[in-house]
Amino acid sequence: MSKTVVIFSGGMDSYTLLNAILAHHEFGEVHAISFDYGQRHNKELIYARNACTELGVSHTVVNLGDVHALARSALTGDCEVPHGHYEEESMSKTVVPHRNMLFITIACMYADRIGAKTVYYGAHSGDHAIYPDCRPEFVEAMNQVLAASAGAANVTVEAPFLHLDKGDIASIGADMGLDYDKTWTCYEGGDTPCGKCGACVERAEAMDKAYG
Ligand SMILES: [Zn+2]
Repeated sequence: MSKTVVIFSGGMDSYTLLNAILAHHEFGEVHAISFDYGQRHNKELIYARNACTELGVSHTVVNLGDVHALARSALTGDCEVPHGHYEEESMSKTVVPHRNMLFITIACMYADRIGAKTVYYGAHSGDHAIYPDCRPEFVEAMNQVLAASAGAANVTVEAPFLHLDKGDIASIGADMGLDYDKTWTCYEGGDTPCGKCGACVERAEAMDKAYG
């Protein structure tokens, strides 16, 4: 049976992607992979684990605990989490430089080991403004590097939401009847989402677009 690897953060974009892939049997056996890179809180990882348990998907959490000490970002506790939209200058503090390149590379190593040919991740157009590693040119360049790195053993990366926005993704989820209460988006790690950080603001707008 074919195998597919999905990079799964526990947030709504990758939760939608994981469910969409599970709904199409041609992807075969689906394996989720998450990363503990010293982010400010581990709520996403708890939500990811619970979702995978419920969906019956194998879930690997890779410990990259020392990475936060190297990276400059609000998401790894280097400074306060900014509030507002992704387009705003302050949001650049939430960029973790080279993060997705690292995640994809490790996910491809794992895919190679288990015999999967493709790694999926949930980058979308709403991320393009501030996250360079969510843009089409990054995905294209990453595939070139992967091919150069692995030769015949190549694994490719796909980002099927690349030209959709978060509202489109929420609409796909709504059509599938997904319960987004099973996902965690907020950059803060409180008992409830803060409602103010970029991730909360974008999520609320996506939900409005999908559910009205
Ligand atoms: Zn928040």
